[in-house]
This record gives sequence, structure tokens and C-alpha cells, in this order.
Amino acid sequence: MPIHEQSLIRPENLKTNEEMVIDGVDVSGHWSTFIETRAVSDYNESLQDEIAALPGGENIHRCWQCGSCTNSCTVNAINPEFNPRYWIYLIRIGMESELLRDKDIIWQCVSCNKCTYACPRDVVPEGVMKATAHWLELKGHTAKSPSTHFDEVFTDQVIQRGRIEESRTMQRFFKRTGQPLMQDWFVEMMKRLLRHLPIGLLTRMGLASVVAPSTSGWSRARDAIREYADEQHARQRRALGLGATTGETAQDAGAPARS
Ligand code: SF4
Ligand code: SF4
Repeated sequence: MPIHEQSLIRPENLKTNEEMVIDGVDVSGHWSTFIETRAVSDYNESLQDEIAALPGGENIHRCWQCGSCTNSCTVNAINPEFNPRYWIYLIRIGMESELLRDKDIIWQCVSCNKCTYACPRDVVPEGVMKATAHWLELKGHTAKSPSTHFDEVFTDQVIQRGRIEESRTMQRFFKRTGQPLMQDWFVEMMKRLLRHLPIGLLTRMGLASVVAPSTSGWSRARDAIREYADEQHARQRRALGLGATTGETAQDAGAPARS
């Protein structure tokens, strides 16, 4: 389906009369197809501002609907229902209920950024997709995606220690997403690492998985970064009309409590 034909007319809005005669003319079946009248009254006039308040969504107002993002999109080539141009259109006119119909596929963006390079208006559609997926989670329309869990685990570890330790990150990510630690691909990856990495590096990695490494003198930077991150999260939640955060991230990630 050509991308510009994506429209608000859904199959359920089309009505056909099996038997119908008008002025003596038989118009039964598809000859009597009508588009059901539909009045939209539930616009969310803040929707564009809400998406723009989240990281990546800042330039959504610049879109002029050329369709280059969808034309170049990796996921659209596989699933024509994945249509960044169309979702940006819905957000800009505030059609939240229409956007929510596609809430279960918006997260499928693979961040290849082909759309970003194709966009003539610097909208950064990849960022808008991320902001929209984030908005869906914050508003409770979708559960947190594995990608969000990973981001939180990774960020918490960086803020807490000033560096990351891969095995700890993976353990916490698996725990949060309810996955077993011993997965075939993971075991195979570890075997290959053991075979090919220098002994010194392997020893350091082993030690790091027991004693969490940290950057010396990190505590002042940690407090400043955490304060900034908390301010940003609070600002984003206010922009979306949400209450204060539950403060779940550090504990969910298994990070030590704040000192
Ligand atoms: S390529 Fe850019 S300007 Fe064109 S529809 Fe996509 S986001 Fe909008
Ligand atoms: S970054 Fe996402 S929206 Fe953009 S082209 Fe890649 S998959 Fe499509």
C-alpha cells in the first residue's frame, strides 16, 4: 500500500447493505458501500506539546508531512502498518485515540535512523518514535518495554558508579525482565569470550563481577547528575500531567540505595 494512502477510514467504518433498492435500481452488495459518519470530539490539544517535552520529540512541530521518513523506514518495508509520518500527523492534530490504535507496534522502531537522514526538516523522526513509545509507557497505555528496562538498568549503574560492568548490567536486565540468566546465546557468547579474550582482561572482568568497579572521586559527580536527571524526569511528568515519580529506578535495577 503506498504510504500516502494511509487514511482514517478503517474497515469497520465501511458499511454495505446486502439488499438495497434505490429508485428501482438494485444497489445491493458493494454498490451500496457507505462510509459511516464519524465525529471526532476527543482531541488532545496538548498531545504535540507532551511528545515534544520528551527526549527526541523536540522537533515534531517542524514536520511538513513529506513522507520521506516512512519511505525510507526499515520497519515499514516489512510491516506497512508501521508509519512514522502518519503517527506524527496524528500527534500534531491531537488525535490520541487514533494513535492508541497502533500503540502495540510503535515500539518496533529499530533506531536505524534512516528516517533521520532522509528528513528534510530535521524533525529527527527516530527521536519522535522513541518519545512516543516513552509517552505510551508513562501514560500507562503500554507496559515498559525491554528496551526501557535496559536503559534504566544501564543508566542507574552509570550514575551510581561512574562506569558500567557488563555482566552486572546483563544480570539486572534479565532479572527485571523475568528472563533466566543461563540462555543458550548468552552461554555461547561467554564461551567465545573465554576462548578469545586475553587472560588479563578476563581476570579483570571476573573481579569486576564480584567487586563492582567505580570511578574514583565519583560521588560529587553522581549527586549532580542524579539531581539533574531527577529534575528532568519531574519536568517531563509535569508536562504530561502526571504525578511525582515513584522513584522506582534505582531499586528496580538492584542498585544500592542512595547515600
Ligand atoms: S521526513 Fe520529516 S518532514 Fe517528512 S514526513 Fe517525515 S518527519 Fe515529517
Ligand atoms: S529509526 Fe525507526 S522510524 Fe526511523 S527508519 Fe529506522 S525503524 Fe523506521
